[in-house]
Amino acid sequence: MIQIKSDAAVAAMRTAGRITGEALYLGGQAVKDGVSTKHIDDIIRHHIEKCGAKPSFLGYGGFPGSACISINDEVIHGIPSKDRIIHNGDIVSIDVGAFIGGYHGDSACTFLCGQVSEEAKTLVKATEEAFYKGVAFAVAGNRLGDIGSAIHEHVMTYGFDVVREYVGHGVGRNLHEDPEVPNYGHPGHGVRLYKNMVIAIEPMVTAGSHEVRVGKDGWLVTTRDHSLASHYEHTVLITDGEPVLLTKI
Ligand code: MG
Ligand code: MG
Repeated sequence: MIQIKSDAAVAAMRTAGRITGEALYLGGQAVKDGVSTKHIDDIIRHHIEKCGAKPSFLGYGGFPGSACISINDEVIHGIPSKDRIIHNGDIVSIDVGAFIGGYHGDSACTFLCGQVSEEAKTLVKATEEAFYKGVAFAVAGNRLGDIGSAIHEHVMTYGFDVVREYVGHGVGRNLHEDPEVPNYGHPGHGVRLYKNMVIAIEPMVTAGSHEVRVGKDGWLVTTRDHSLASHYEHTVLITDGEPVLLTKI
């Protein structure tokens, strides 16, 4: 069931969103050659807990980290590890959620470590651009297909594609709520948006084929053809006018 948030719920989600955005920023600042993904996870967890919040992902379905940290051909759900070292030239996707006052925030970004390839740079740029193309349609009265098609159309202009198996979602008391928010679709189709709906819009973009597979640990999602992948996400409040990015700081 799709939840329309009360004004009090929206206020609580602003706090959860701000903490999420700060934690993601701090995690991104820590992306450097030689650093482990566990180190970044520690920084993120520390900030969330310092704010009196809880990491949304920690323990979610048994997930052992506070953030998902996924490198290069890894799309999402990378488990932080002291043995997973980031190197110059890597692109590092960090996905974070914070829970406070009964509500979650959810946000992700792909960060560049040092000098990366032109393809990687373009992929990350295209993913962020696609998010903003999509979010422009996140207005009461529009439909989810308007958002998804704008995202997909934009990445295809670069020759990139979007992951089909994983999609955005409603956010609120639960990290993942209805509706599903695909990064593809048809204008004028899909669920209609109403004021005070809150959705995570999160393009997952691949440089090659859009096909993905889940790794042996049951979590890590990589591209099947090992092409690079990029992720960009904000928790978005729907209004009658400009959408509000609750996780943008
Ligand atoms: Mg996320
Ligand atoms: Mg999400």
